[in-house]
Amino acid sequence: MRIPEYHPLAHCAVHATPHQFTIGAHSYPPDAIITGNNWQIPVHTLSARWHELVNYYGTGYRVPLAGLVFDTTAELDALGHFLPLIPHLEPIQRREFRTKLNALLSDARLQIVLFRARTVIPATLSMRAIIAGQLLLCFWRRPDILAALIASHPQFHLYVDAQSYTRTGGVGGGCYSVEDHRIMLQVERLYEGFFTPTPNVCPLLHELGHMLDGTAMRMQKTAVCRGELPGMTANELTDFAAGKRAEYHCYQAWYHGRPPSDGRMPLGHPYVFQTDGEFLAGYWEMFWRNPHTMATVSPQLFAAWCAYTGSDPRQFVGADYMGYVRGNREFYQSGERPWPSAIQFHVAM
Ligand SMILES: [Zn+2]
Repeated sequence: MRIPEYHPLAHCAVHATPHQFTIGAHSYPPDAIITGNNWQIPVHTLSARWHELVNYYGTGYRVPLAGLVFDTTAELDALGHFLPLIPHLEPIQRREFRTKLNALLSDARLQIVLFRARTVIPATLSMRAIIAGQLLLCFWRRPDILAALIASHPQFHLYVDAQSYTRTGGVGGGCYSVEDHRIMLQVERLYEGFFTPTPNVCPLLHELGHMLDGTAMRMQKTAVCRGELPGMTANELTDFAAGKRAEYHCYQAWYHGRPPSDGRMPLGHPYVFQTDGEFLAGYWEMFWRNPHTMATVSPQLFAAWCAYTGSDPRQFVGADYMGYVRGNREFYQSGERPWPSAIQFHVAM
C-alpha cells in the first residue's frame, strides 16, 4: 500500500466524499496512511473528521491538510506548517514551545472565540492554536513582552462566515478595535495564506501589528496609538524611529516626484504610509513574511526589530513570500502618484 508522506502535502487543500479523500490533485483510498514525523494517521480517520467539521462549520472550514491533521491529532508537527519556527526548534525547545502554547491556550485573559451570527460556537484547536502560537512565535525570545500583551486582555473574535462578520461590525478583510482591544477576522482568513509550501498573506499578523500598537498605548497610558510596539526601551524606540524615517524619507521622495537617483524604493505600499498605525501593521507583517527582502531594502528597520524581538525571522523563513514585495515595486514603477502620508512627527517641548 502507498504511504503518502505528510510534509510535502501539508499545504494542499483537502476534500472528501463518502468514498474518496482528495489531497491537492490526488485521491487516496481510506486505508492509506499519512505519515509525519513520528506519527501516522489513516485516511479514513481524516476523512471522517473532515465530514464532521465541514458539516458543523460549513464553508468556514476551508483548511489545508495541516489544519485538518492538527484538528484530528493535535500533533505539534502539523502546527509547524502555520508557525515556521517550530520545525527549526531543537527537541528541548519544542517541548518548551508546546508547554507554553498549552499555557496560553488555557489562559483566561486571552480571549479567542468563534461566532456564528451572534452566537459563540466552539472554535477548533487549530483556530485557537494558530492565534496563540503566532503570539508565542513573535515573542518567543521576549517572554516579558508576551506577558504584557496577555496581561492587556487581548480579544480575538472569529466569524464562521461573511454575514456573521459584517453584521457584527466587521469591516475590510479584518479589523482591530482599539477601544475593545479586539481583532475581528473571518475564520477562513486564518488559513488563507497557508495553501502554498511557504506561508503567504497573513491578515492575523497585520491586525496583530495594530493590536501591539493598542497594547503600547495602554502600557504608556496615552490617549492615542502612535504606531509603536509595546515595551520598547528608549534605545529600541530610537532605532525603530531611525529605520522608519529612512523608509518615510524614501517614500516622500517618490511622493514629490523626485525618486532617489539610484531608483531605490520603499519596501511598503502607499497604503502603509497613510498613518503610523498602518506603517507598523504593514511592516510587522512583512518582517515575518519577507524578512530576506526587508533586511536588504530596509536594513535599519529590520535590524531594529531583530533587536527588539530577539529573533531574526530569516533563520526559519526559508524563502520570502514575494507577493507584497512585487506588488509594491510595481506600484512605484507604474508612474502613478503615491498617496499623501499622515505619518506624524512628535515634536517635544
Ligand atoms: Zn491596517
